[in-house]
Amino acid sequence: MRVLVVEDDRELALRIADFLRAEHFAVDVAGNGEDGQHLGETEAYDAAILDLGLPKIEGAAVLRAWRAAGRTLPVLILTARDGWPDKVEGFKAGADDYLTKPFRIEEILMRLRALVRRAAGHADARIECGALTYDVQLGVFELDGLPLRLTGLEWRVLSYLALRKEIVVARSDLIERVYEGDAEVDSNSIEVIITRLRRKIEPLRIETVRGRGYRLTANTA
Ligand code: CA
Repeated sequence: MRVLVVEDDRELALRIADFLRAEHFAVDVAGNGEDGQHLGETEAYDAAILDLGLPKIEGAAVLRAWRAAGRTLPVLILTARDGWPDKVEGFKAGADDYLTKPFRIEEILMRLRALVRRAAGHADARIECGALTYDVQLGVFELDGLPLRLTGLEWRVLSYLALRKEIVVARSDLIERVYEGDAEVDSNSIEVIITRLRRKIEPLRIETVRGRGYRLTANTA
């Protein structure tokens, strides 16, 4: 999963980014509304965390621009302003949820996970695919009831596929949701990760669908 953080308080932005990275998310950070708007329009994210009071372009205007450009990603608004009109403006602009500063950083994680899960069409916090269970709210995978040990990259690939189990995911989509914007991406690295994951999740399979992408399936035939 890849998340965009648009926040001009640099210390807070880095604290959020560090926290989410420790939970395996790929995180891009923008320090003003202009950069944030550009990234949200041109890059693929599973969710965005957007401050309302931003230099250059206000958060609500950034969000309106994303929605006008057809970007449907879930957006969690951060605001230091407790005022009702700010929240109304945020929701009118297309926000999915909001947090008022100061907040516990764990709450961002809980809300993000819920937003990503609902955006992928899952009402239940646990996704099951054969012997594999993914607790989206806790961010934990189990195979036959035992926790799976995964690297950050493996976790991002498997969570993206698990949220779309039995559906073919384009290789290019997967690559966009796994790496941060400034990462050097080797063209073979996604295959390397998929190969490692296949060994870890047997008897489940990650099928390669020629010319289309990958599919996580419980169908062992
Ligand atoms: Ca601000």
